[in-house]
Amino acid sequence: MKEDIETGKHNKIVTRFPPEPNGYLHIGHAKSIVINFGLADDFNGLTNLRFDDTNPLKEDQEYVDSIKEDVKWLGYDWDELRFASDYFEEMYSKAVLLIKKGKAYVDDLSAEQIREYRGTLTEPGKDSPSRNRSIEENLDLFERMRNGEFGNGEKVLRAKIDMASPNINLRDPVIYRIAHAIHHNTGDTWCIYPMYAFAHPLEDAIEGVTHSLCTVEFEDQRPFYEWVIAECETESKPRQIEFGRLNITNTVMSKRKLKQLVDEKFVDGWDDPRMPTISGLRRRGFTPEAIREFVNATGVSKGSGFVDSAMLDHFVREDLKLKAPRTMGILRPLKVVITNYPEDKVEMLDAENNPENEEMGTRQIPFSREIYIEQEDFMEDPPKKYFRLFPGNEVRLKHAYFIKCEDVIKDENGNVIEIHCTYDPKTKSGTGFTDRKVKGTLHWVDAKHAIPAEFRLYEPLILDEEADSEENSSKNFLENVNPNSLQIIQGFVEPNLKDVKPQDKFQFFRHGYFNVDPKYSTSEKPVFNLIVSLKSSFKLT
Ligand code: ATP
Ligand code: MG
Repeated sequence: MKEDIETGKHNKIVTRFPPEPNGYLHIGHAKSIVINFGLADDFNGLTNLRFDDTNPLKEDQEYVDSIKEDVKWLGYDWDELRFASDYFEEMYSKAVLLIKKGKAYVDDLSAEQIREYRGTLTEPGKDSPSRNRSIEENLDLFERMRNGEFGNGEKVLRAKIDMASPNINLRDPVIYRIAHAIHHNTGDTWCIYPMYAFAHPLEDAIEGVTHSLCTVEFEDQRPFYEWVIAECETESKPRQIEFGRLNITNTVMSKRKLKQLVDEKFVDGWDDPRMPTISGLRRRGFTPEAIREFVNATGVSKGSGFVDSAMLDHFVREDLKLKAPRTMGILRPLKVVITNYPEDKVEMLDAENNPENEEMGTRQIPFSREIYIEQEDFMEDPPKKYFRLFPGNEVRLKHAYFIKCEDVIKDENGNVIEIHCTYDPKTKSGTGFTDRKVKGTLHWVDAKHAIPAEFRLYEPLILDEEADSEENSSKNFLENVNPNSLQIIQGFVEPNLKDVKPQDKFQFFRHGYFNVDPKYSTSEKPVFNLIVSLKSSFKLT
C-alpha cells in the first residue's frame, strides 16, 4: 500500500470488508475488519462494507442487520454500504463479454461430471463435449438460462481457460449456475447466480477497491482473480493480497458450525455468551477495545497457527482493570452471625471503588450482625496453610472488621448451616489498627441488605483444543461440546448494585470480571456473566 501510494499507482487506498450474510460475525471476522478498516485508515483511505450476497439459499436480512451492528460496535464506520447483488446486471454483461471473446461457454455436464472431468493434482482434466460450442449458441443458451428455461443444475456457464492447468482452479471454473430461488435483495429477478470466485473480483473492481485483502485459503484463487480482472477488461484493477486466518484454541469459528450449535440448541442463540461471535462476546462482556487490541497483537502474518484463548482474556482484563468498579459478590453463600454485634445496628462503611483508579471514588456499604461469606472461605477441618475462616481463627473482612470463628452450627445431617463469630470493634478498616495481623481477607455482603443475584459461570464450549484445524475438519465437532460449559448459581451482591444496567461491568473481589446480561437480567434480579476470572497464566512476550 505504501509503495502504491508513493509510486502514484493509487492516490487513495480503498479496501472492503465483504461478509456473506449467512450468519453472525465471529472473532475471526474481527481480524478481517481490523485489517481492512485499520490499514485503509493508516493511509487515509476508505473502506466499504459489502455484503457478498451472491448465494440466495443461505442469506437473510437478520444477518445483514446483525453484521452492521457488530461492525459499528467494534468501532468502525464504513464509507459505503454495498450489496454485491446490486451488481448482478453488470456481472451478467461481463459474462456476456467473456462469451463474445470466446472465453466462456455454456456446459451441459452435471456437477458430478464436471468434477470427474476436472482431473486431479497429478492428471490433467479433459474437455467437456460442450467446450467448443459456437459463440452464437453460447450467447443464446446463456440468455435462455437467464430467462428461466432450464432447471437447477441443467446448465452452467464456465470460463474457458485451460483444462490442463497445474492450478485446478483454472480448469474452466464454473462462473454461473442456475438457482430458482428467492434472493433476500433481488427477489425473483434472477434465476442464475454468479459463483463467488467470478463475482468477487468484479465486485472489487466495480467499487474501485485497490487492495482486496482476504484469508490464505484464497491464495490458489488469485490467478483466477487476476484472469477475471484482465479478461473482463474492468477499468479499475484491484489486487488480491492474503493474510492468515485467525484460529483460537477451544473454539470453532466457521459459520456453518456456529449455525449448527444454534440450530441444535447447544446454545441459546448466536449471541450466547459462550459463542465466539461478536454478539456473543459482547453479551459475555468483552469490550471492542479488548477485541481490537487482541487482534492487533496476533499480527497479520500468513501463518494460521492457533492463538491461545487466554490471550483474548488477557486483553479484556487489561481493558477493564481501570474501568470496571470493584465490588463484592457472594457466589455460594454461607451465613455468618456476629454474635457480639448489636442486634439492630447498621453502620455504613467506606469502600474504594477501584484502588488502581482513584477517580472512581468511593461508596458506602452496610454492615450489620448477619453477613454472607463464600462457602469455600470456611473449613471446619482446614489443611495446613488455609488462612481463611476455621474454628478459632481470625480473618479480616474487606472494608470492615476482623472476625473470629467461635462456633459452627449444623443441621441434623451434619451440614454446616451457619457460622458464629465475634468481631473486634478496634480493628475497623481505615483506622490504622496494627496491633495484630491476620493472614486472610474475605469478601462478604450484608445479609439484610444484599440483593439476590444470579451468576453465570462459563467454561470453553469446545473441549478439543484445535477443533478448527485442517486435520480435524472431517471429525464431528459436536462430540467435543463441553457439557459443563455453563453453570448457573444464585448468590448475593452489594445493595449498591440495585440499579445496574445491561452491559454494566464489575470486578467482583477475588472472583473476576462480570457483565450484566442483557437478556436475562431484570430489575428484580440482576444476572451477571463471568467474563474472565482474575487469575491468568498468560504472559504477553
Ligand atoms: P466462515 O468460514 O466462518 O463461514 P467465511 O470466510 O465464509 O467464514 P465470509 O462472510 O465470507 O465468511 O467472511 C468475510 C471476510 O472475513 C472474508 O474476507 C474472510 O476471509 C474473513 N474471515 C472469515 N473468517 C476469518 C478468520 N477466522 N480469520 C480472519 N479472517 C476471516
Ligand atoms: Mg463463506
